Amino acid sequence: MQTLHAHSQEEAHLYLTVTPCANCSDGPWEITEELDNSETDHTDGMLLARCAHCRAEKKFRFDWTDRAEDRPDDPQHFLPEVINPTPDPSRIIDLGQWLSLFYMMVEKAAVAVNVEARRIGFRAAQCLDEALKFYTDDELPPESAFYVDASRQAFAEHPEKFTRQRLRDMRSKLPDLRVMAARITHDILTENKKKWWQFWKK
Ligand SMILES: [Zn+2]
Repeated sequence: MQTLHAHSQEEAHLYLTVTPCANCSDGPWEITEELDNSETDHTDGMLLARCAHCRAEKKFRFDWTDRAEDRPDDPQHFLPEVINPTPDPSRIIDLGQWLSLFYMMVEKAAVAVNVEARRIGFRAAQCLDEALKFYTDDELPPESAFYVDASRQAFAEHPEKFTRQRLRDMRSKLPDLRVMAARITHDILTENKKKWWQFWKK
């Protein structure tokens, strides 16, 4: 079984979102069980998932060596729902897939409200940042930015959609990650306070 190197649970879940089922070429995967080797060393874990379309089951093995949640000394550790705090590009989701995830989330955010819209917006901004990590000195991405044929094909058909300036322009319309994270932290604290208050009202 292939071991997938993820920087966070969030990245692992997004990987399942963009990976089609080998049995029916459809999906998406629904996680049925998370098996973490917490008794050993935390460095790997399994996700058991089922295809929502054909019900095929598959186990995914993840390497958690660089998992953001396990790095309390990291300066960005306080950010909630962080996908990848390192400057390295993802090893499991390619440039084209990050862009697909970004567009998917923009659509979702458009119909969500308040807290939910902010959380999706934060994730969308991170997807664009992940896409930008693949670029070197050129305006166009290197061949190594693509892991799957669907992305290579999308790039061959519409290279203009993959220029770095285009991604930067889209990113500049979204707030800074720290500003978004601070707002989400506030949302989470407010939500917890509300729960506490509701508890006493009973
Ligand atoms: Zn399937």
